[in-house]
Amino acid sequence: MSAHGILILFLVFFILKLGWGTGLSLLNLGHVHAHGMRVPPAFVGVVDEATYARSVSYTQTRGRFAVLSAGVSSIALLAVVLSGLFGIIEQAVRLLPIGSYLQGVALVGAVSLLFWIISLPFSLYATFGIEARFGFNRTTPKLYLFDTLKGFAVSAVIGIPVLLGLFWFMDRTGAYWWIWAFAAMTLFQLVMGILAPLVIAPLFNKFTPLPDGELKESILDLARRLDFRTRGIFVADSSKRSGHSNAYFTGLSRAKRIVLFDTLVSSHTKEEILAVLAHEIGHEKRNHVTKGIVLSALLSLAGFWVMSLLLPYLPLYEAFGFRAVSYAAMVVLVAFCSGPVLFFLQPLFSLWSRKHEYEADRFAVQSVGSARGMKEALLRLSRDNLSNLTPHPLYSFFYYSHPTLAERIAALDRAEAQLVKG
Ligand SMILES: [Zn+2]
Repeated sequence: MSAHGILILFLVFFILKLGWGTGLSLLNLGHVHAHGMRVPPAFVGVVDEATYARSVSYTQTRGRFAVLSAGVSSIALLAVVLSGLFGIIEQAVRLLPIGSYLQGVALVGAVSLLFWIISLPFSLYATFGIEARFGFNRTTPKLYLFDTLKGFAVSAVIGIPVLLGLFWFMDRTGAYWWIWAFAAMTLFQLVMGILAPLVIAPLFNKFTPLPDGELKESILDLARRLDFRTRGIFVADSSKRSGHSNAYFTGLSRAKRIVLFDTLVSSHTKEEILAVLAHEIGHEKRNHVTKGIVLSALLSLAGFWVMSLLLPYLPLYEAFGFRAVSYAAMVVLVAFCSGPVLFFLQPLFSLWSRKHEYEADRFAVQSVGSARGMKEALLRLSRDNLSNLTPHPLYSFFYYSHPTLAERIAALDRAEAQLVKG
């Protein structure tokens, strides 16, 4: 296929993605608007009118903004591709008096910086405009700046050696470089899985052990009962950035740290927190985490294989404005131009993730013996986060990693009914 043909194929995917993505968002906004006048029947009595009205307004504001920012970033990508800017950056980087691997790092870095600058105004407005207006934002311009600088430093410290390593594998390990690179990358990710919570996460948040008391005792008791080994329960000071709340586990080995957002601890009852943790433990016990690691390894192996096939193919580079075959240009193509194609895999990932969420919810009901804690936790999270209670079914089918609140509550009730029967 010629460079011209490849460009046209890219444009077809690009237009399909932009059209389909925008269409879904507008469909969703229309659905929210149509149900926005009064609290949906399933939530009468649990969500008051004022909260519902605020959630509708928050969903609409964010939805419109998402359409705008997706449109602008798509057009920016198109402009970069069609203007030949990639080739100009490539030529400029060649002039640097450094080795070819480092020139490659500079190319990837410059393109990353370019797209980061394009997205910056949107990120600023989302945080200090929208999130602030709805009372979620707690971050200050100063904290935002420090987060950004730390993010850059972490990306450089991790990204530069990874890129250099990748270039080396592409360069030196022959036709099967993609298998070697895949093996090295997988090993690196496993090491990072262990190191990140210990080294990187503390750069951004303070983690304090949950103080002794009833909550801690109950959590340890739950973990013992479910045979879940933990290496401590920590509270993260996430409230310094945002009012949104959550809980998660870190660590790859069999013993994990439990991390609770301080916003979760302060706003939820003990029964709710235990149900949320039982749900998270459910993800472990049902092997969702292991399956996720295996899936992502298989996908990255496939990705490396495809890269190895495309690597020597000059028309591909020319289609996007590059002048020559290079390792770094291949990385740029994968990182910044594969989106319109990969976008259409999204519903598969959403489906797979939602299946696991249902399983973890069922596990939580079985573990704590009732659906009440989980239901109340979900309702409170939904109220506190102003979640959209009436997404369009096609929109949630395509994007949602979790079932909608109404779907989850119905499934929790079914799980509880089964428990009583069994
Ligand atoms: Zn989950």
